[in-house]
Order: sequence, then structure tokens, then C-alpha cells
Amino acid sequence: MQAVTYQGIKNVQVKNVPDPSIVKDDDMIVRITSTAICGSDLHLIHGMIPNMPHDFVIGHEPMGIVEEVGPGVTKVKKGDRVIVPFTIACGQCWYCRHGLESQCDTSNQHGDAGAYFGYSETFGGYAGGQAEYLRVPFANFTSFVVPQDCELEDEKLLFLSDIIPTAFWGVDEAGVKDGDTVVVLGCGPVGLLTQKFAWLKGAKRVIAVDYIGYRLEHARNVNRVETINFTEYENVGEYIREITGGGADIVIDCVGLDGKKTALEMVESALKLQGGAMGAIVIATQAVRKGGTIQLVGVYGSRYNQFPLGDLFARNVTLKMGQAPVIHYLPTLYQWIVEEKFDPTDIITHRLPLKDAAYAYEIFDEKKDGCIKVVLKP
Ligand code: NAD
Ligand code: ZN
Repeated sequence: MQAVTYQGIKNVQVKNVPDPSIVKDDDMIVRITSTAICGSDLHLIHGMIPNMPHDFVIGHEPMGIVEEVGPGVTKVKKGDRVIVPFTIACGQCWYCRHGLESQCDTSNQHGDAGAYFGYSETFGGYAGGQAEYLRVPFANFTSFVVPQDCELEDEKLLFLSDIIPTAFWGVDEAGVKDGDTVVVLGCGPVGLLTQKFAWLKGAKRVIAVDYIGYRLEHARNVNRVETINFTEYENVGEYIREITGGGADIVIDCVGLDGKKTALEMVESALKLQGGAMGAIVIATQAVRKGGTIQLVGVYGSRYNQFPLGDLFARNVTLKMGQAPVIHYLPTLYQWIVEEKFDPTDIITHRLPLKDAAYAYEIFDEKKDGCIKVVLKP
């Protein structure tokens, strides 16, 4: 089959690889009909994970039609239309039973973290979903079966695999409530969805920060939020504290490791405490009010010696973070899409065949051609 493979820093190639097959009784094989590229995939191609093997199939935002199931699969059958959550989880362990399946104890035999499709050995070693076919382990739990009477096209549902529940979890976990002022750092796909959910959770003011003009414009025009280009301010955090009368109740960082820098450049910028991801944490630290909450949704992948812990401590700031437990939120958010409570499709700017994946990565990574979110069609 054709699949998107990692071939080194900023190098992905569509290659012929062996078809996946059922390995364990509760596996299923899905024929992928749509699959997206995520900001988390950019961290991989920037070298966040040093031992990332070449030829590894990447991608973790797929949906499709079930082709085959193992004898232990009871919840799903051949021909079902399924959304595949990025978190691979058993459904039985303590974490899965407590709504934190992104930390499943069973699915990752390689490290002290959860398991995710297409995210290297460190996160379980499972091949990813930017491919024609995908092996889904623990299929009874790691799947959402789209009801047969659902007539919604893939594009309305696809992001339930990751960024819709991720964005919702961010505002939920941060405790956004009626009347809050919420600052969202980043106007990529995750930030833009987070802004929608901040409104839905009752925020009275939503302020979005980025430096890419067309993304700020999208946030302003579609999500009706205030926008700030952080490059226009000497100290954007202080500016936010000023215009909010003491700081935001909640700051949600939807940036993480800087989308344009390699892991090495990241460490350098972190040490200089400027620009990039460390920049986002510094902005968050300054923009939040005393006693407020900072939620890290953006992914971080290394240690930061100059992390502003003292500033957070002195101001009683709560800091939360992690990989979103998307399976937990999926049924509710599916229902919200059916009821048209929100529309996730406005962020899609590019629809491309799987064979054009290298180009798709380039425009998403470099923020070119007005790219916000790419959907690949195998
Ligand atoms: P993206 O790269 O498209 O968006 C990031 C945006 O942040 C870009 O528009 C960029 O210009 C902007 N930015 C860069 N530095 C900034 C700064 N200092 N302040 C404000 N904005 C800044 O990526 P995306 O797909 O939107 O994903 C965003 C983040 O969410 C990534 O780190 C991704 O790994 C993470 N993510 C986390 C989870 C989770 O479970 N926690 C799930 C999915 C994605
Ligand atoms: Zn993702």
C-alpha cells in the first residue's frame, strides 16, 4: 500500500510499504478514506524524537471503513464507518476507566507514556494513519463507530480523531466558565477550534495571539475574537495584562514546540527566552492574572532549564497540560456536530491526494498558500 513515511528532518515521502495485517485478536484493519496532518506531525519532522526510525509510517488523524476484524472484536464489524482516535487505549486499565486513556497503561510497552498512532517507538511503536490501510489495536475501545444513519461527509467528522476533542479538553480542563476572559496562543487548527469552544463554554472575551497574518484574519473573521500579532509588541504579555485589567483568567497555549524550528533550534531559543515555544510559555506567564490558569495543549518534548517556575509560583498560577484523552469526549462532540452546535470545517484550506503528502507537509509547515489544515485522501 501507499503510505506517508518519515525519512529524516523535514523529509517525508510517500512510499510503498507492506499492507498491515491482524496481529492480535482485538485488532481491526481500516481502509482509510480521509486522514489529516496535525501540528504534532510537524514536531516529528522537526526532530522532536531523536530515535524516530526512517520508513516509519506517520499520521494519527484518520477515519475510514472497517475492512477486517480479529476474532476478539465485538464492538465493530466489517463495513462499519469508523473514526480512529489518535490515542491507542485498552479500555480496561485504571487510566482508561478514569477518562485518561491518553495515558493507557497497557498499549505502550516501550515507555512511561500513552501510545499514539504514527508517533515512534517512544509512544508505542504503532504505524500511523496517513496510509491506505491502518491496523488499529484494541479496536473495541480505540474506535468510534459512526451511526449508520449519519449522512455527514468525512470532513465534518474527521477531526473528532484528535483536534476537536483536544481543543474541547483544553477549555474543559482549564475550567473555562461563564464570564471568563480567555487568551488563546496560536491560531493553527487547534487554536482556532479552542477559540470556538471558549465561546461555547461561556467566555465573555476571547483574545487570540499569533504572528501569521492570514491565520489571525481567519480567527477574527470566522471566530469573532480579538486578535493580537505578538511581533508588534515589545512585551505582548504585559500588553495583554494591561488591556484585560490585570490578566486573563485562563491562557491556553496551542503552540507548543515552535512549528518552524528544529529541536536543536528550539533549545537555543529556549535558552534565550525569546521567540518560539518558550516564547509562548513566557507570554502565557505574563498574560495570565494572579491565581489564573495556564493550560498547555501545544506539545512540548524536552527539558527547559529556564522555565519560569518562580514567576508562576509567586502569582499562584495553576499550570495544567498533557495529551488529550480524546476517546472520553468523542461521543458528546459527535452529537454536537450532528446538532450543528459548531462547524469544524472552516479550518480546511487544502484537500489533496495522499500522493501529494510531501507538498502538503511543506505548505502546512511553512504556513504557505494560506494553509491552515490539510485533508489527505488515500
Ligand atoms: P500549527 O503549527 O498549525 O499552529 C501553531 C500556531 O502557533 C501557528 O499558527 C504559529 O504561527 C503559532 N505560533 C508560533 N509561536 C507562537 C507564539 N509564541 N505565540 C503565539 N502563537 C505562536 O499546529 P496545530 O495543528 O494548530 O497544533 C498546535 C499544537 O497543538 C501543536 O503543538 C500540536 O502538537 C498540539 N496538539 C496537542 C494535542 C494534545 O493532545 N495535547 C493534540 C493535537 C495537537
Ligand atoms: Zn494530532
